[in-house]
Amino acid sequence: MALKGLDIFKLSPKKNCKECGSPTCMAFSMKVAQGAVSIDKCPYFSEEAKAAMSEATAPPMKTIKVGTGDNECTLGGETVLFRHEKTFVNKTRYAVNLCSCMDDATIEEKLAMIPKVDYERIGERMYAEMIYVNYAEKAGADKYVELVKKAAALNRVLVLGVEDPEVAKAALEVCKDSKPILNGANASNFEAMNAVATGAGVALGVFGKDDSELYDTIAALEKLGNKNLLFNANIASVKDAYSTAVRFRKAAIKDNDRTCGYPSIVNLSKIASGDLHLQAALAALFTVKYGSVVVMDQMTYAEANPLYGLRQNLFTDPQKPMKVQPGIYQINGADENSICLTTVDFALTYFVVSGELERSGVPCNLIINDAGGLSVLTSWAAGKFSSSSIAKYFQEADIEGKIKCRKLCIPGKVAVLKGELEAKLPGWEIIVAPREAVQLVKFLKDMQ
Ligand code: SF4
Repeated sequence: MALKGLDIFKLSPKKNCKECGSPTCMAFSMKVAQGAVSIDKCPYFSEEAKAAMSEATAPPMKTIKVGTGDNECTLGGETVLFRHEKTFVNKTRYAVNLCSCMDDATIEEKLAMIPKVDYERIGERMYAEMIYVNYAEKAGADKYVELVKKAAALNRVLVLGVEDPEVAKAALEVCKDSKPILNGANASNFEAMNAVATGAGVALGVFGKDDSELYDTIAALEKLGNKNLLFNANIASVKDAYSTAVRFRKAAIKDNDRTCGYPSIVNLSKIASGDLHLQAALAALFTVKYGSVVVMDQMTYAEANPLYGLRQNLFTDPQKPMKVQPGIYQINGADENSICLTTVDFALTYFVVSGELERSGVPCNLIINDAGGLSVLTSWAAGKFSSSSIAKYFQEADIEGKIKCRKLCIPGKVAVLKGELEAKLPGWEIIVAPREAVQLVKFLKDMQ
């Protein structure tokens, strides 16, 4: 049974030293009891106290790491059901499906398509982070292992969809160092698959013909000492998949049932086989409703643009403004003689404006000052993007020492700042730029 905050407080060091980030040991104990923070954040809990509490105070949902180096993905670890309650922490990852049942031309075409979608949006790389490699018995083990090798060459996290322990072992031989997911334990093979997965040190995905069989198989694997697990949402229908994903997440977070507290895999290429439009719609649904890994038949820009935008909105901490660092951003090979523009540090504003500036091809210096991570009009209304704050930043960052050009464009929405800025930045020509970023390309070209 879960410990209450008071139980944890009784075992706490009671130093109130704040090193854990909480103002008091009592506040920290309450957070630990809610599963919002790990007991390890306090360096002073005795080993005995930790051992007594570790199981009871573990977050309700396990955090699983797969992949290595730059490809490492963290899955699970959520503490709330709804983003507005606090924040979601580990975003959904998308996998493109390959199968050894596919002919060579299809496989080559799919492999060539995967790297094509790779772009940045508000500082985040958007691409298919995973490849699902499904084993078809009739194609044989050799073809499967060859396919795994080809997929591994794309440098993504692999999910090996294979339920035969011997084939799984052969496939892991060629890719286990990259920490793939072995997705193939079920009620009849879980002991053998557990031995293969733990032997290779990889996470194990679990199937069940219904939620109750899935639950029992996870419990049996836990008894064998394996908690490096993921569960598969039921692929019988959309309704069943949704039901598994939601029921398991609710049981983990609300009822503290740790056997349900694992990241999920939702295989849309099985649930909506061949229907790419339905898959795209379902990918959005399972991004919102608890898919940790969502498998799709393809990820082109048509799927990626809305999906990654949705994911980024959902997995951004609403308590923290999305900001970029203040500084001078040199665009299109700008130097000290290039024209200057300024705007706020709100990440969305920065990326939209810098994208348009890049598109213009005109060398320019984009000067970003600390405006609290708010949009232009909001920060202006809050007094964080004013003639005084801009002039102060110019002084602090020694802009005049770094840039010789004395032309500064300000956003059209704060044209009202022009007069004040001319007074506070003597020697600078203040130019009012357009109100909308999309008009910047023509504006800059005309100025040239
Ligand atoms: S770090 Fe430990 S001892 Fe210090 S306030 Fe936090 S819980 Fe208390």
